[in-house]
This record gives sequence, structure tokens and C-alpha cells, in this order.
Amino acid sequence: MVKPKKVYQSWKGNNKFLFDGRLIFGPDAKSLIVTFTLIVVPIVLFCVFVASNLAREFTTGTTGYAILVLAIVFTIYVLILLFSTSTKDPGIVPRNSHPPEDVLGYDSSASIEVGKPLPRTKEILVNGLPVRVKYCETCMLYRPPRCSHCSVCNNCVERFDHHCPWVGQCIGKRNYRCFFLFVSSTALLCVYVFSVSAYYLKLLVDDYGTVWKAIKVSPASVALMAYCFVSLWFVGGLTGFHLYLISRNQTTYENFRQRGLRGDNRINVYYRGCMNSFLEVFCSKIEPSKNNFRGYVHEEAPKMTSKGGNIQVTDVDTSDDDRRVKVEDDLEIGDDLMKISQRRNSQDIGDIRGRGSDRSPISRSELDFGFGLESQFSLRSESCHSEW
Ligand SMILES: [Zn+2]
Ligand SMILES: [Zn+2]
Repeated sequence: MVKPKKVYQSWKGNNKFLFDGRLIFGPDAKSLIVTFTLIVVPIVLFCVFVASNLAREFTTGTTGYAILVLAIVFTIYVLILLFSTSTKDPGIVPRNSHPPEDVLGYDSSASIEVGKPLPRTKEILVNGLPVRVKYCETCMLYRPPRCSHCSVCNNCVERFDHHCPWVGQCIGKRNYRCFFLFVSSTALLCVYVFSVSAYYLKLLVDDYGTVWKAIKVSPASVALMAYCFVSLWFVGGLTGFHLYLISRNQTTYENFRQRGLRGDNRINVYYRGCMNSFLEVFCSKIEPSKNNFRGYVHEEAPKMTSKGGNIQVTDVDTSDDDRRVKVEDDLEIGDDLMKISQRRNSQDIGDIRGRGSDRSPISRSELDFGFGLESQFSLRSESCHSEW
């Protein structure tokens, strides 16, 4: 008898799995090695050439060693965050093995065309405002609001932020907090290493009289300061940018799409105050993964095919009372649908074409992020725009 496959063994996305499906990576997980090296090598140099020498400068007390230990502990913390971000399910929406059966019953605001029975969009309410969600032909589902299909991983990811090549994983609903903490902690680590190296150099200048002599004694200090200075522009800037995004309850992807639109008077339907935005990111409970990667594929389960088999869930989670999530649940486009049929040329106004390539006129599902009621727009969301 053929042993049944586990979900991760017949996974249709481009992810890589380790430890029997316990860890999920993006297809570019090897970049983790680069990121790991970029963090660990400078820290080792710092510990060997700066912190340990500095410890000897402090002849009394434990201050010198505290500097060394703090650097090591801080680095371990940063690496744990990196690892958590990279190995976590970012919020992948399980694929359907076939299109929703009642898809023809959906109202799609005149999206249905002759010969193309699948409506490419449907309207749902988010915070009382209509949001157009789009059909993903790859995953065969209507994406929940804020969900987008990452072309690198080939999955629909909830609250898709971007695909980060540095961590080799999508950044989405379930690992955004980890990602932000990783980036901001790395920025703090840069500040720490820079400051201590500068302080050590100052002590050497005091001892040897000139800056040049001090640099000759400890070139590693200068190199580390330069490295941290450059790195800080990157991770510090990224931290600032994400603080800005969090304050607006916006994802990187939404922000970049918004910039591509004319005019700034868009309404972000997800914004419910700056404080709530921070609470949502840092204090909300992280929902369990919708994928049981280690579970067995049930061939005979309803709505499944023999070759796909990795998905049982056709709708998103329905357990949350939260209004927004409730709307996300509503893939059946029932009573919550906005009765908006008079929207003017909603398919065409403001379209930004040309990102990625469609396999069919309705194949690239699109998601209206709901910036504004009047100026509806649609954008290619199949491509994963990984800006970093
Ligand atoms: Zn998809
Ligand atoms: Zn991805």
C-alpha cells in the first residue's frame, strides 16, 4: 500500500521544507546564509578585537565583560528573530483544488463576461467601506482583503507586505511582527557596535596621542564603525519606514501601489487610528497557520483532487468576531456584499497595467485595497514586488 503523502510533500507553492515539514522557507532561503554571515562575522570581529580588549581596559568591576556579554546576547536575540521570520508560515491561504462551485452566483459588479464565467472580482465590506477582492486563478480562491499572491513563493499570503530576499520568506500577517522586531533590533545592534567601537577608539587615542596611531592599533574598530554606519542607513531607514507604515496601518505593498496612483486623497479602509494600528501589529494574537504541513493528504476528502490534495480549507478562518476578519471570511459573497453595481467603469479606471504578465484575462487576480470610494482602481498583484 502506498504511504499517504503529507501536505508539505505535495505542496504546490515554491516553498522549501525542513524537519519533516516543521519549518517552511521561501524558495530563496539560501540568502539566509548571507544575512546570517553579515550579522555574525562583524559581531565575532567586534567581540575578539574590540569588546574583549575593552574589557581589559576596565581593570575593575564587570563593565568590560558586560559589554561583551550584551553584544553576544543581543546578537542571539536578533538571530532568533531572523530565524522565526524565515521559518514561519507568513499567512499562506490554502489553495483550492478546483474553483469555488458557486462562483457563478457571485455578483461581480458587471465583471462577468460572455465565455468567461469566473468573475474576476467581487465586492465586500471592510469597516463599512467596499473593498474589491479578486480571484486568484492559481490558488482558485477569492483573496481575502489585503491578501496578495507572491510570485516568488507562488502562494496567496494574507496581509502580504513584501517578499524579503534577505530572510528568504514572504512577510505577511503571521510574521510581520517578527520581521519588524528583527529589522529594528538589527538597527539597535548597529548603534551599539558603532558606539562601543567609537568609545574604544577614543580610549586608544587618549593612550597613543594621535588618531592614526589608534587606528593602526585597532583597524577593526574603524572597519566596524564604517560597516555599522552603512548598515544603519539600510536597517535604520527600513525601521523608520515600517514605523510609518504601522502608524498608517498600511503594508509595503499597499504603500507602493498607492504611490503608483494619481492623487493622495485615498482612504485607507483599514486605518482605525494610530494607536490601534500599533496594537494590531504588536499586541494582537497571531492566528494559527491555516496549513497543516505535516498532516496527511486525504485523497477522498470533498473538494479535493487526487493530484492536488494539499488543501482542505476553501474559505478563510471564520472564528473571529473582528469585523474586518469577518469580512475576510465572507468568500461566499453573501449578505455582506455591497450593493454597488453602478460603479463607473470600475475595471478600467485607474488601472495600472504592465506589472508581470497575465496568463489569461482573468488569471491575475487583483485586489482593491480600498483606497477611496470614487476612484476605484485595480492593479496587478500577481507579481511579488520585493523591494528589499
Ligand atoms: Zn494565489
Ligand atoms: Zn514570497
